[in-house]
Amino acid sequence: MARQRFLVPPFGGSNPPIPDISFGELMKKIFFYTISLIIIIFSIYYFFYNNNLIVTKINNNLSISLSNNKTISLLGIYIPNEKKNNAKIFLEKLLMNKKVFIKYDYTIPYPFYDKYIYLYTVQNDTSINELLIKNKYAICRSPFPFTKFYIFKNLEKKCHLSKKTKTKNKNIKLSNPQFYIANKSSKTIHKPDCKFAKKMKNSNKVIFKNLQDALKKGYKKCRICF
Ligand SMILES: [Zn+2]
Repeated sequence: MARQRFLVPPFGGSNPPIPDISFGELMKKIFFYTISLIIIIFSIYYFFYNNNLIVTKINNNLSISLSNNKTISLLGIYIPNEKKNNAKIFLEKLLMNKKVFIKYDYTIPYPFYDKYIYLYTVQNDTSINELLIKNKYAICRSPFPFTKFYIFKNLEKKCHLSKKTKTKNKNIKLSNPQFYIANKSSKTIHKPDCKFAKKMKNSNKVIFKNLQDALKKGYKKCRICF
């Protein structure tokens, strides 16, 4: 009696139609859904595994220990010995007990992509690797090729160049010459501290107090000192 009760459809309607599906198709569907589910679960696990990490220690060799008990190194950067102390202090201020997330570079060989990573702060999505290059603690260098090489190299060049041009401009402002030394034979004007002015034969020297006078007489500015 009790068993029969289960077979009676609720609300007195007819039995729901049984979908017309073959065993093979059913297995295909089950297989498809199982695989999808595994992928979704794995992605969620992977996302949390790589995105909810906390920095527990900055080591002396500047590797970074994380809350998952892994110790990682930053990919694509090299910190010279003389900058290591300052870089360590910089990293400690920035990262200690802070949430971070990591990105692997699967283009580098297997045992290494687990060790050398890109590290980001969760709070404002800053790349630590790039920050170290920007702040001149590190240069772009790696024992193996990696995806972000050109980004890091350009960043290094940019920081390096901006420093050079600044000092160049300073020098020009400092040396505001009282006179110019021109060369009779090559018809070029030099500032007195230019290396070509110093090398010039005395017989070729012409002194101008005013740059405009020299230009009017057909002399051209030296490409090195102007
Ligand atoms: Zn010159």
